[in-house]
Amino acid sequence: MVKGKTFIIAGPSGVGKGTIIKKLFESRENLYFSVSATTRAPRPGEMDGVDYHFLSRERFLDWIDRNAFLEHAEFVGNLYGTPKKYVDEAMESGKDVILDIEVQGAEQVHRQRPDVVRIFIAPPSWEELERRLVGRGTEDPEKVRERLARSREDILLARYYDYLVINNDLDQAVEEIQAIITAEHCRARERYDSVTRRL
Ligand code: ADP
Ligand code: 5GP
Repeated sequence: MVKGKTFIIAGPSGVGKGTIIKKLFESRENLYFSVSATTRAPRPGEMDGVDYHFLSRERFLDWIDRNAFLEHAEFVGNLYGTPKKYVDEAMESGKDVILDIEVQGAEQVHRQRPDVVRIFIAPPSWEELERRLVGRGTEDPEKVRERLARSREDILLARYYDYLVINNDLDQAVEEIQAIITAEHCRARERYDSVTRRL
């Protein structure tokens, strides 16, 4: 069986990563969403084990000690991390893994696994990003300011990613990510051996 690949979806808070990923899962099979752990409090409607594993800071530090994370990072006052075990299991079973993580975590994963595909999602403008973040209504004004400030730093890293998708029109952004995943599975260096064995 062909092993799955890992795709990192990174980009500013409020740019639409979660929304894009949700649509992607509705339109593509064979994907696995890696549920992260976080010390952030759940937002209304978020479910433990579905959106995140919501942990106390103490438990999060314990997971770090037990080497349970593929990567972990602090983002605007909270800790976030990718549990290692499920990512590997999903890839072994042939599924493509989607990681919704911030840029420091993306860097850590890329250093350990250079074949990971990094996709940066950018907003059409700063005004639109702020509108989306404020419009979501999940953070107080101070946190919104902190998240926007982080975005201005993070966007400078976009040039080092494999792909840059602008989330202006949602359907087009999802379509572009679909195309990226499909193209990554057509890479000759990975397909060549299995093809020549059959010919
Ligand atoms: P992130 O996961 O990147 O923090 P979200 O997926 O929560 O961002 O999206 C933030 C807000 O922007 C949500 O209210 C969402 O409905 C809205 N949104 C996402 N994509 C678009 C888009 N292409 N056009 C307009 N609004 C969008
Ligand atoms: P939010 O609090 O809005 O859900 O997420 C804040 C930021 O944390 C987003 O940029 C999101 O991609 C990132 N994030 C979510 N899970 C992880 C994770 O497991 N590791 C890292 N490094 N970042 C994460």
